[in-house]
Amino acid sequence: MKYQPKIGLEVHIELKTRSKMFCSCINNSLEKRPNVNICSICLGHPGVLPTINEKAIKLVIKTALALNCKIAKVSKFERKNYFYPDLPKGYQISQYKEPIATEGFLILPSSGKKIRIRRIHLEEDTAKLIYPEGKNYSLLDFNRAGIPLMELVTEPDIESAKEAKEFAKELQLILRYLDVSDADMEKGQMRIEANVSITQISGVNSQNLGTKVEIKNLNSFRAVEKAVEYEIKRQAEILESRGEVVQETRGWNEKKGITLPQREKEEAHDYRYFPEPDLPSLELSDEFIKEIKLTLPEMPSQKRVRFLEEFQLSEKVIETLINNKNLNEYFEKVVSELLRWMKDKGIEENKKAELIKTLANFLLTEALGLLKGKTFREKNFPITPENFAEFITIIKEKNLTSKMAKILLEEMFKTKKDPSDILQEKELRRVDDEIQITEIAQKIIKMHPQAIRDFQSGKREAIQFLIGQMMRETKGKVNPQKAKEILTKLLTNN
Ligand code: ADP
Ligand code: MG
Ligand code: ZN
Repeated sequence: MKYQPKIGLEVHIELKTRSKMFCSCINNSLEKRPNVNICSICLGHPGVLPTINEKAIKLVIKTALALNCKIAKVSKFERKNYFYPDLPKGYQISQYKEPIATEGFLILPSSGKKIRIRRIHLEEDTAKLIYPEGKNYSLLDFNRAGIPLMELVTEPDIESAKEAKEFAKELQLILRYLDVSDADMEKGQMRIEANVSITQISGVNSQNLGTKVEIKNLNSFRAVEKAVEYEIKRQAEILESRGEVVQETRGWNEKKGITLPQREKEEAHDYRYFPEPDLPSLELSDEFIKEIKLTLPEMPSQKRVRFLEEFQLSEKVIETLINNKNLNEYFEKVVSELLRWMKDKGIEENKKAELIKTLANFLLTEALGLLKGKTFREKNFPITPENFAEFITIIKEKNLTSKMAKILLEEMFKTKKDPSDILQEKELRRVDDEIQITEIAQKIIKMHPQAIRDFQSGKREAIQFLIGQMMRETKGKVNPQKAKEILTKLLTNN
């Protein structure tokens, strides 16, 4: 039998504000020392009053606009009542009936498919419960209590585990472009719950949805994909054996790679929502929304299209660039410097695409390699866009071998010097002169009689070893094509 999966995601995102949602405590979910960013408001002491963080409101609106949502002119905060140790007030200030934003969508880049967004609202994060291993008690850290938390809920438009992961990744990218959140899933700044159901595909196109299961504890994109995949399979097996899927909440067990039941949901939890009496309703003027709209940066989807048009790079390279905003902003700066250098050096304009390709190549492999896994940040990166651009024109102008280019780039990275200065100091010039290359080749041949015997007994790959030795001898300066020609000539004439 064939089944149609339907998946809706609920995503919680910690917003990047200076202070918490309703008090002036520092918003830092990464703080290691427990209970340092706390006050009587976020601890829920009696008699205190919350104040709305304007920045948080702006960040939600920014996200909502970027996701094509309708912004409510009036929205309300409500109390969501339940008891849990991580909730000091006994209720969470959240939004329920009147969220800030509704009816948006996000487009999946690989397919162009539209995933509708039902709502985006604002609430406060809870404290962190810590369960020390082997102990029979738990600990509470209130640093996180009251951090502004944005919740985004999709319609059940997602239809595979792959789409669920793609949605999550594209959302993270958008949040980072907007600078709304760092949205790092491993750090809990973006947390996802997946609602999964399947229905049997029959002849009639039925719009009915199956019974859904909600999956919690998804702490990575991989977990989102694996858990949804697992759940679809599990539900299919139940239907296959004529059983019934129970509506329940399940947790993803990363180690075992399975979902396990957490609690059954007979009816909706009764949170006894009611309007927060200590806060006014949120009224937004057109002016206010318009001003936020003006701060929207170019979105990843727009940048993808533009990069493809402007730079004629492969889709894979474009995607790598798009996925790293800091890097693609640097890349664009280098490109504009590159055009200047080309003009200065009289390099023809039709070489532009070729040079940009060289640039992408060196930036994404060599330059990132030099960072040894550290995140790229322009302000910590020792090579200025101007120098990087000059470096690219030098490769072209002086016909540098790739080995020489690597040495030059490494030296720029280490010393922050201009590539032209390093070139002079190190006398980096490619060796093209045939007489000179012949001399080097002869020397190498004398030094490696075994390789010569190998070559002459038919192991043609021995020549690669000899070229490598010539490169080593010249610190990478010898023209590799000519080295090969001359070596072949010398060896076959012997
Ligand atoms: P709940 O009240 O249990 O939280 P909601 O109706 O508010 O459920 O929906 C929460 C999420 O579950 C939304 O993302 C929604 O798209 C998704 N969802 C609802 N019904 C289904 C279903 N039958 N299959 C898959 N996802 C669903
Ligand atoms: Mg829910
Ligand atoms: Zn506080």
